[in-house]
Amino acid sequence: MVAKHKPARRERTRGKIPKLIIVTGGVLSGLGKGVTTASIGNILKARGFRVNTQKFDQYLNVDAGTLNPGEHGEVFVTDDGAETDLDLGHYERFLDQSLTKDCSVMTGQIYLEVTQAEREGKYLGKTVQMIPHVTDAVKRRMWAAARRSHAEIHLVEVGGTVGDYEGAHFLEAVRQLAADDGKENVLYVHVAFLPYLAASDEIKTKPAQNSVRDLRAIGIQPDVIIARADHPISKSQLEKLSLYANVDVASVIPVPTVGSMYEVPLHMEAHGLDRIIAQKLGLGFRPRNDRIWHRLVATIKRRKPPVRIAMVGKYLNMKDTYMSLIEALKAAAWAHGRSLDLWWVDAEQIESGKFPVEELQHAAGIAVPGGFGVRGTEGKIRAIRFAREKKIPYLGLCFGMQLMVIETARHLARLPHATSEEFAPAEKKRDPVIHLMGEQKKTLLKGGTMRLGAWPCALKEKSLARKLYGERRISERHRHRYEFNNAYRAKLERAGLAVSGTTPDGQLVEIVERPDHPFFLGVQFHPEFQSRPTRPHPLFLGFLKAAISSRKTASRGR
Ligand code: GLN
Repeated sequence: MVAKHKPARRERTRGKIPKLIIVTGGVLSGLGKGVTTASIGNILKARGFRVNTQKFDQYLNVDAGTLNPGEHGEVFVTDDGAETDLDLGHYERFLDQSLTKDCSVMTGQIYLEVTQAEREGKYLGKTVQMIPHVTDAVKRRMWAAARRSHAEIHLVEVGGTVGDYEGAHFLEAVRQLAADDGKENVLYVHVAFLPYLAASDEIKTKPAQNSVRDLRAIGIQPDVIIARADHPISKSQLEKLSLYANVDVASVIPVPTVGSMYEVPLHMEAHGLDRIIAQKLGLGFRPRNDRIWHRLVATIKRRKPPVRIAMVGKYLNMKDTYMSLIEALKAAAWAHGRSLDLWWVDAEQIESGKFPVEELQHAAGIAVPGGFGVRGTEGKIRAIRFAREKKIPYLGLCFGMQLMVIETARHLARLPHATSEEFAPAEKKRDPVIHLMGEQKKTLLKGGTMRLGAWPCALKEKSLARKLYGERRISERHRHRYEFNNAYRAKLERAGLAVSGTTPDGQLVEIVERPDHPFFLGVQFHPEFQSRPTRPHPLFLGFLKAAISSRKTASRGR
């Protein structure tokens, strides 16, 4: 393991190696470090810099694929098929650029690499240690991502908070960067939370001070502090934090909780953070071009009539599970001059009858998102049937498409026992209209064994999908194990379910729709991953348009 990770000074002077921005967090988790990192990337990109972002995650998992979405939130998928933390979704949306598997590093990957190298004898008899072997592996991954991206500025978000036992190797690795590479090439940004104390009606800076102290104790002096708070922060508090943290006051940037996360970049710009960073990293002045983002935020803030979309799902206590989907729906609603009124419907309550399915007539559109396992599926199928029969616009995403196929099979193709092999192993009396493909059946491993990442899809002439995309050939991201069973294709088509998108070889069914319905469409992939706030996805635009023209947008009134 002697691969070099340090850039040669010569490369640096030729501008080939990016400057680094390291984002750490303090006080508590969930304070929006991902959005902060994404926003810094956004304002630098608006200044014309080529930017790349990378996330270091502390978990011992090798990737996010095996994490329970109900606990950890959405598993975001890149074009090259990495199953990553949802922060990568923020990065892609704020930067309007697609990232790669390099951009997500989990501790499990690092340990796996180091342990495998040890087994292969690559350490030549040396004791294998946290420093330098693990930290070097971290730095190698960082430089590999930075070089491959051809960015001028490479941002790294270190997951967790300073002082976490599990984050020590990442913090030590990023600390070394300044020594390796010259302080002028590395900028440390620390995001800290300032709690509000109701008893004395004030914001407290002490926990943030302490987190900076912890950071300095491990050898990192922050250059910029992002002071997060739910309440306005006074000038004197910023000064206090500046003094204790040893950071000039102009570089202590207050970011109070704002209405929409998309406002954060503009807030940072208003405090001159783009200029401060460019100066501190010795990057030349470039004019700012952020008109698109200003227009987006103006649209978001404008009062707009709502459009109500029912989301029939399972992990409802953890809305982060559907992060990209919600953002895709919002972006499409905004583009149509509406605000999204998202109505969460628990599929299990439909199943148990606690929530009468007829209630869904109050929705302008119904969506069934991706999901796993049998729990709640009968409720979802009932919702899909209702959408079909009442001609309510319906969009099925991955699992939502598979259940749409099952619904048609059961109710229109005389296959009352139609199911997915995910719920029931293939038996004679059942019809697995959704199944595992032959070669997949042998796989027992759970991690990284799904159909993942971007796949090309050919669209059928004159179909709704073709009309919406306006293209013959598209590429969309996948994350699923089961597939449409071609043995039932003819039967399902006779039942009115048109296959409007397949892999170019025609083998895998990717999109189904009903021509006799205003909008009844299901996709085997996850279009939400490619939707951007400034460039909403055509399928979501089409779905929202159909929902709006179904004119059931009156507010909930219950
Ligand atoms: N559980 C389904 C499958 O594995 C759908 C997955 C999903 O919705 N992402 O095929």
